[in-house]
Amino acid sequence: MSTIAFIGLGNMGMPMSLNLKAAGHEIRAFDTSEAAREKAAGEGMATFDNAAKAVSDADVIVTMLPNGEIVLRVFEEIVPAARKGAVVIDSSTIDVASARKAHAIAEAAGLKALDAPVSGGVGGAAAGTLTFMAGGSKQAFEAAEPYLSIMGGRLVHCGEGGAGQAAKVCNNMLLGISMIGACEAFSLAGKLGLSAEAAFDVISTSSGFCWSVNTYCPVPGVGPQSPADNDYKPGFAADLMLKDLMLSQSAADGTGQATPMGAHATELYRDYLEHGGAGKDFSGIIEFLKTMAREAN
Ligand code: NAD
Repeated sequence: MSTIAFIGLGNMGMPMSLNLKAAGHEIRAFDTSEAAREKAAGEGMATFDNAAKAVSDADVIVTMLPNGEIVLRVFEEIVPAARKGAVVIDSSTIDVASARKAHAIAEAAGLKALDAPVSGGVGGAAAGTLTFMAGGSKQAFEAAEPYLSIMGGRLVHCGEGGAGQAAKVCNNMLLGISMIGACEAFSLAGKLGLSAEAAFDVISTSSGFCWSVNTYCPVPGVGPQSPADNDYKPGFAADLMLKDLMLSQSAADGTGQATPMGAHATELYRDYLEHGGAGKDFSGIIEFLKTMAREAN
């Protein structure tokens, strides 16, 4: 049994920490939200009124926080209080530059650091089937592996510090682009008089097949169950997709790499959120795209 400090007990952090607890580990929990702390206490976790107290005595520290600025602030607070040799795993989705700074802060104090963002959403967090994409040293990855494998079904060591966030941002940029592509194809098919069934049967078995069509079809009534069948209730919320696309664009700015489709997808998700997309699944952008008039060429 290990002692694990868990910082950030929101939609993702709570079920992830519960899986660690169910596996027999002692959890020391902290969240700035009192409601989250009360919920954690109700689940039998030890709770603390600040992050530094939660991490003292911990063998492992997991952070699951909203953004890079908060992660860095929390790292500045917890690293001096942590045990030398402890492994600190940041599973938040944050920008690559902040992830690298977090590694530097932790490693300067003799901690093993891993950036390990996830895919799989709240369902994967509850089921313990998340995919972790990790960046950091081999020693850090090996130290974290027994704990990641409780919370996740697939672990990929992508490279040095920041590599996990780099993989996540590239994957989710492609996902945003491919979802918009799937929505455009089904919308145009409808305008051409094709049924959604016929479009799905062809695309899902032809060269247009992709996760956004085959697994997560944005049209109700075709393909496996998806948020489209539940009035676009998330799922993966459109605002989180915009967050990830914006991270991809800051990574593109930082490297000088052109990502014109990523840039356009970012603008379309921003527009969608301003026109009814708040609180909806990211596949709901099909409803917004259908309302857009074609500009004259
Ligand atoms: P959330 O907003 O539900 O949870 C974040 C928690 O962090 C909240 O409980 C908040 O009170 C707490 N918090 C904020 N500042 C804090 C601080 N300084 N110290 C301690 N706690 C603090 O968000 P979430 O959906 O759980 O997402 C967490 C991270 O996981 C994000 O980076 C998100 O992008 C990523 N992610 C989310 C999903 C998803 O489907 N929800 C999927 C993959 C990745």
